[in-house]
Amino acid sequence: MNKNSPTLVGITGGIGSGKTTVTRIFSILGIPVYSADDRAKWLMQNDAQLQTKIKDAFGDESYLPNGSLNRDFLAKTVFADPEKVKRINSLVHPAVGSDFSDWASNHTSPYVLKEAALIFETGSNGSLDFVINVSSPLKVRLARTLMRDPFRSEEQVHQIINQQLPDEQKNEMADFVIKNTDNKLLIPQVLKIHEKLISLN
Ligand code: ATP
Repeated sequence: MNKNSPTLVGITGGIGSGKTTVTRIFSILGIPVYSADDRAKWLMQNDAQLQTKIKDAFGDESYLPNGSLNRDFLAKTVFADPEKVKRINSLVHPAVGSDFSDWASNHTSPYVLKEAALIFETGSNGSLDFVINVSSPLKVRLARTLMRDPFRSEEQVHQIINQQLPDEQKNEMADFVIKNTDNKLLIPQVLKIHEKLISLN
């Protein structure tokens, strides 16, 4: 590990597991956070090379005449087809990967966090030093997601869950697991991992 650059730490977890909630605690501790999902949306809208690749793959209709991403078109034609989802991910994930490397190299903190719903699923754990999985039971995740996102149906949440690796598998692959259940305090678990990661530098 190059000690001049921050340790690269991924934080993942299934939908509604509490990634964003846990990440906020790290952020309060002064750790820079890169939101891969937000940044992916930004890059699809603003990275000219990525835009060209998306148009080549799915047609010029992928963008509206004013240059903004044609979300309705993509939702109907790409996100409804698992093979096309794989294809768009294969364009977007490498762009996010190199954008994250550039971002991380501009930080001097002992470690930085990359928050992403899919890390093991996309293989991006290969370019991270450690991965934290935020783990909570399916029933709890479902209830929290439906409460947070009233616009989603239970079926839609299950569809998203089915695109993600099972929690047990991610727990085995992760270097650290944070259990986000109703009877476990988050802050002590975050502090323990924070101290460990700080001690590496
Ligand atoms: P997504 O993958 O959909 O972005 P996420 O993993 O980032 O989800 P959060 O948005 O952090 O999950 O949490 C889901 C919902 O559950 C939020 O409304 C959050 O406030 C709530 N929540 C998270 N952790 C807890 C907790 N320990 N106790 C009560 N509510 C919680």
